[in-house]
Amino acid sequence: MEKVIDIQHLNKSFGSHEVLKDVDFSVSKGEVVCIIGSSGSGKSTLLRCVNLLEKPSGGKIMYNGVDILSDTHNIYSYRTKLGMVFQQFNLFNNHNVLSNCIVGQMTVLKRSREEAETIAMKYLRLVGMDQYVNAKPKQLSGGQKQRVAIARALSMEPDVMLFDEPTSALDPEMVGEVLKVMKELAESGLTMLVVTHEMGFAKEVADRVVFMDKGVIAEEGTPEQIFNNPKEERTRAFLSRVL
Ligand code: ADP
Ligand code: MG
Repeated sequence: MEKVIDIQHLNKSFGSHEVLKDVDFSVSKGEVVCIIGSSGSGKSTLLRCVNLLEKPSGGKIMYNGVDILSDTHNIYSYRTKLGMVFQQFNLFNNHNVLSNCIVGQMTVLKRSREEAETIAMKYLRLVGMDQYVNAKPKQLSGGQKQRVAIARALSMEPDVMLFDEPTSALDPEMVGEVLKVMKELAESGLTMLVVTHEMGFAKEVADRVVFMDKGVIAEEGTPEQIFNNPKEERTRAFLSRVL
């Protein structure tokens, strides 16, 4: 399978604290990878290194075969190829829903307002938020905000979508509506990298599950392998705490 992102020997330290240690990791086109692991194991840092919100301390990030860290010019175009959805939504609170979904398209991708609105509406419909174009984020529930954040990221038409615990800040009754949208995206063939505590989602939707522990990938495999037949003791211990 064609690797979209291929990370080799990734290291990340904050001061003397080594948070990622020699991580090799790849995502293939159309693949859905779920990253699981205890709090503090380095999941967010890995995702933030993937989209260069954090600068890796060492290693390579290959994107479609190009080493993007070696060429500053590539970094800007690379970033536009990745969509990110955060735990805390990170919507622009002074902008309405439609505006949230067109600002990046107009400023970064230089699309006209008309084109940006057409594309935004397509994705707002997809997440079921097209009735709320004039609403401000504070008028929305958490689940609705997260669906807008997903539509905003999709409006940039990225190659890969990164999700960092997209349902962890939601009231329990709103988790389902967000997971449903994510499942539909996965089934549509979108390439997705999802940090999640939702083991049911990982089991059902992931092509591959990556278990992180103390800054390393301790084990990875199909959901079947990881959840039903983990090889590593630490994977078993983690799963027994969360399942
Ligand atoms: P996870 O997402 O798995 O909970 P994180 O990647 O957020 O883990 O954090 C891994 C470790 O890196 C933690 O010990 C955390 O305190 C540390 N860390 C993360 N970001 C920073 C930062 N900006 N400065 C210093 N330490 C950080
Ligand atoms: Mg995290």
